[in-house]
Amino acid sequence: TPVTVIVGASHAGVQVAASLRDLDYPGEVVLIGDETHLPYHRPPLSKSLLHPHDAEGQVLRPASFYAQKRIGLRLSSGVDAIEPGERRVRLRDGETIGFDTLVLATGARARRIPIAGADRPNVLTLRALGDAVALSQRLAQARDVVVLGAGMIGLEFAAVAAAGGRNTTVIDTTERPLLRAVSVEMASYLKDLHEAHGVRFLFDNGIARIEGKGRAERVVTLDGQEIQADLVLIAAGVLPNVELAAEAGLAVDNGIVVDANLQTSAPGIYAVGDCAAFVAADGRRLRIESVQNATDQARCVAAAIVGRPEPYAKAPWFWSDQYTAKLQIAGLWTGYDRAIRRDTADGSGFALYLFAGDRLVCVEAINATADHVAARKILGEGIALTPMDVQTPGFDPKAHMR
Ligand code: FAD
Repeated sequence: TPVTVIVGASHAGVQVAASLRDLDYPGEVVLIGDETHLPYHRPPLSKSLLHPHDAEGQVLRPASFYAQKRIGLRLSSGVDAIEPGERRVRLRDGETIGFDTLVLATGARARRIPIAGADRPNVLTLRALGDAVALSQRLAQARDVVVLGAGMIGLEFAAVAAAGGRNTTVIDTTERPLLRAVSVEMASYLKDLHEAHGVRFLFDNGIARIEGKGRAERVVTLDGQEIQADLVLIAAGVLPNVELAAEAGLAVDNGIVVDANLQTSAPGIYAVGDCAAFVAADGRRLRIESVQNATDQARCVAAAIVGRPEPYAKAPWFWSDQYTAKLQIAGLWTGYDRAIRRDTADGSGFALYLFAGDRLVCVEAINATADHVAARKILGEGIALTPMDVQTPGFDPKAHMR
């Protein structure tokens, strides 16, 4: 029987295995992780999981699922090398496993930046369950929290810290929050929201060094300000885990390079999720860090493995929770030249419709799930929606879902 080996047991890897079984793949499925826990949901790590009563984590699938579906889950093993010629992988303990098809779902890791003093015990990053547990324990005792990085994870953590009454400062080298993730207009809304909750932002700035006796007590910014800190989160983005692929001679370019079917430069070896650099509908090569991208790419690869390939062309979507604001994004904001705001009928939320010329590229919603759901459908199916439509009094996105 054929063997598919999947490296990385998280959102992408688990979904590849599950989809292979859904598609009646007749072979063996081996899913190799390098964490100790059953694969778990990562998004809560910067949200609900920071509240200590939730610290158990939420598993993606119960243990029984893997047994029932004949998925050979190997936790803690870790793949050390791929030998594409021999068609086998080598585990950390030296064991080798042969494959007919290999899927790389190695994800990404938190980027560490070389700041003096960043090795102190109360200076943390946030990627895995253990990080979130450590962070929530430290947060319970902290008074002054400094976050380096105004990206999604930095802001979500800042929201939890500020809502819990901590003095919270967010520092970023960029000029505004979420430079990679949302439009200027949405960034401005979220900045105001955080400031209303007491968060202080320092933009166009950074951390020169972290000082204190043993543990961090303050950070010194690039422009010389001293800020009290008994907890520092470095949330400076991620690096894709591409080393395995690169060492095996696969093409790598800010991620493992894949074609329209998510196949790497080596036949029969695929890459999915946070580690994969694919070509988007508009021709740009990109890497997307989201659960939607990981799971939809996983389904696409499973289809290719069972001989029914369909090029990956899903409209991206994403969510984030900050205070009581539920941000939901459909599409990619880059390239827009016009934002049209629509408030929900009951006034509790709004959506920004972002257009490049007359073409809708993205909808960013705050507490406006109906707009988000409609936008996913409209963008996903390429339904035309013009600025005029959105500006028409009584505009109802659902009416355009066809
Ligand atoms: P990962 O989840 O990174 O998993 C890769 C796995 O591979 C890891 O378990 C890793 O240990 C393992 N691995 C790596 N190398 C090896 C090896 N050599 N051998 C074996 N195993 C290996 N996305 C959203 O859409 N919405 C959100 O609200 C959201 N919030 C987030 C909050 C946090 C705190 C974080 C960290 C991420 C968040 N994300 C969110 C992003 C989302 O979690 C990722 O996009 C998703 O986890 C990607 O899945 P993946 O399987 O590709 O990679």
